[in-house]
Amino acid sequence: MNTSHSKGPLVVVLDEGYGDTKIEQAVLQAYGARVVERPCHGDAAEVRRAVAGAAAVLVRESPVNAEAIANMPDCNAIVRYGVGVDNIDRTFAASRGIYVANVPDYGVEEVSDHALALLFAVARRVVSRDRAVRDGAWNIARSEPMHRLAGGTVGLIGYGRIGHAFHRKARALGYSRTLVHDPYLREPPEGVELVDVDLLCRQADVISLHAPLTESSRHILDEERISLMKPTAIVINTSRGGLIDTTALQRALSSGRIFGAGLDVFEQEPPGPAHPLFTLSNVVVSDHTGWYSEESVRDLRRKAAEEIARVFSGDVPRNWVNRWERQPVLNPSMT
Ligand code: NAD
Repeated sequence: MNTSHSKGPLVVVLDEGYGDTKIEQAVLQAYGARVVERPCHGDAAEVRRAVAGAAAVLVRESPVNAEAIANMPDCNAIVRYGVGVDNIDRTFAASRGIYVANVPDYGVEEVSDHALALLFAVARRVVSRDRAVRDGAWNIARSEPMHRLAGGTVGLIGYGRIGHAFHRKARALGYSRTLVHDPYLREPPEGVELVDVDLLCRQADVISLHAPLTESSRHILDEERISLMKPTAIVINTSRGGLIDTTALQRALSSGRIFGAGLDVFEQEPPGPAHPLFTLSNVVVSDHTGWYSEESVRDLRRKAAEEIARVFSGDVPRNWVNRWERQPVLNPSMT
């Protein structure tokens, strides 16, 4: 690390929103780093100017393209606050020996809680009952039938960090079976039956999605699979909107083919107030806030800064996303 640099390495934060840089500063103070917020509002030209002189960059949505990367010759790492790194030219960064890293594991407790919250809200019709009571209704239990969760079957599509956390929490509800579809699992985890998606759709009372959106998972719940579901089935999606064929889901929900759905994510975000799903009382929605709590934001900021600290120490980032064959020497500011 360049201790001869009188002011210490410059770490540039490209998007505003966290109010200060105290958490990042605290993690990086051992390296004498100066953490400076330079909000670029998604503007590529502003990013290019803002990164000049940076030894590391922290970014959320602003584009870090090849022109910007060419303007940061002393940079060692670009770290995304969050998961998606599409806004960063990873290949060009790799060609310059700049690590690109992300933080994939900051809201696991929150998203799994949120999936459960949506499940309860749909199963217990919390939102429609709340509205009805406010409108003067009372004691209308059987006008909107509900079903017991305990004793039923839960189906999880994707069993990584969040799917596993959801399973850990859902165990307390007394489900009799847990079906999992995850093509990358070799052995069934304890208490789980590994099944194909069709069987899961046929047998599960609750289907909760925890898989990433990829070419193979797009519309994994399509019209055909939705048609296999029980009339009492509840679909929960806190993962990505593109996992479900929204039109087919909307048809199944409006005709009462399935019981309900809880959705934190949409194929198009934001979905706009006229979305056809919003007219349905068996649907509960939220605004892709599954990840959020004050604690998860703190975790996110700390973990992002820790990736830079690793690089400043001469290590590779834990969640290094633009891997190259040979490890390059550190850029001049850090040697
Ligand atoms: P993870 O990588 O730990 O787990 C994903 C799992 O999905 C893995 O076990 C993988 O094997 C499995 N998988 C991959 N392709 C599959 C397929 N075609 N069918 C079934 N399973 C498949 O990820 P995670 O941290 O558990 O996050 C899961 C998803 O949650 C993310 O991909 C993201 O889309 C979403 N997410 C949403 C929010 C939110 O705010 N709502 C926040 C964070 C993450």
